[in-house]
Amino acid sequence: MSSSSLTAPSASSHPLASYGWDEEWAERFASHAGQGLLPGRIVRVDRGMCDVVVPGDAGGLVTLRADTDPVHSPDPTRVACTGDWAVVDPDPAQPKGPSVRALLPRRTAFVRSASSKRSEGQVLAANIVHAVIAVSLAAELDLGRLERFLSLAWESGAQPLVVLTKADLVPDTTHLLADAEAAAPGVQVLVASAATGEGLDVLGAVLAGGTAVLLGQSGAGKSTLTNALLGREVQEVQATRDADGKGRHTTTTRDLLPLPGGGVLIDTPGLRGVGLWDAEAGLTQVFSEIEELAADCRFQDCSHVSEPGCAVLAALEDGRLQHRRLESYRKLLRENAWIASRTDQRARAEMRRVWKERSAAGREMYLRKRGGGGGHRRVY
Ligand code: GDP
Ligand code: ZN
Repeated sequence: MSSSSLTAPSASSHPLASYGWDEEWAERFASHAGQGLLPGRIVRVDRGMCDVVVPGDAGGLVTLRADTDPVHSPDPTRVACTGDWAVVDPDPAQPKGPSVRALLPRRTAFVRSASSKRSEGQVLAANIVHAVIAVSLAAELDLGRLERFLSLAWESGAQPLVVLTKADLVPDTTHLLADAEAAAPGVQVLVASAATGEGLDVLGAVLAGGTAVLLGQSGAGKSTLTNALLGREVQEVQATRDADGKGRHTTTTRDLLPLPGGGVLIDTPGLRGVGLWDAEAGLTQVFSEIEELAADCRFQDCSHVSEPGCAVLAALEDGRLQHRRLESYRKLLRENAWIASRTDQRARAEMRRVWKERSAAGREMYLRKRGGGGGHRRVY
């Protein structure tokens, strides 16, 4: 069968390699190979359909419009999203044309949950390797906001990377770089300028190894950075769409763009407006030095407020820990607890609804059985 070549060990020579295909994906796809099914990467989704890039005939790639209904799930986090690797049936003779049969298990995912109206969680992008957080040097450095973006980056499973943008607008970046680095333990911080090209080669080299997303506040320079990395204006497309009245929310024809230097960039409208989600796992990494200090507190459940033998307060006292860091940590923890409790309330309400339905169904079943067995009339 011709599809066997798609699972050959040399994943780097695979046509999908430029989209991030590697041997691990090849292994995960192997059990689906055969019956004409193809591996593909989803580059855009909308209303039950998606654009998916699959290997073409002559060793190239083709983009198919595919039906995602076959992977429909009541769990919104299992619905196809940009960045997903898919098992595709390219046969156009299906009722709705080519279809996505299954999704390969995700390595990482950005999930929007409690901050939106829907509490169930909505996956914004999948299989991200690098979460690039753009921070403008033209405005005052807001480290609290940076920590927020870092926590959601860690939470996704991706490796954060901070890019301080618009470096051409500040005479000396030394202190700003040091401040950002202190707020981002374990994270590479780059200084860049789309205007002068500073730092773009390093950024391009880091991103060459996988799938990246750009996070950051509006005005941080994400679009400009995207264009610089792509070497062309993706925003042109937005202007065209505006002209024909299709609205502003579509910035690109695809949400997943291959970079000329290697790697791909996911740029979806949803990711641009992300807030903080229930990101407890992420928080512990953003504030890893506080977590480390806390390990030495006398009480295991120390809240680092006034307890005796508190290692965090001791570090605050002798200047090893900044007040701002601890305040920021406390604030995010509180916010997180609030979001989590809100999610729990919704989850509990949903559970009650399900149990009500089940017990009603169970009662009906019971009565029906009883009715069938003993010839009794059903009583409700
Ligand atoms: P986004 O909202 O994060 O996508 O930010 P934009 O890419 O739209 O940039 C916001 C503003 O900053 C625009 O006016 C850009 O021209 C400007 N800008 C972006 N990058 C740079 C840079 O490296 N240097 C300078 N001087 N301005 C920049
Ligand atoms: Zn403590």
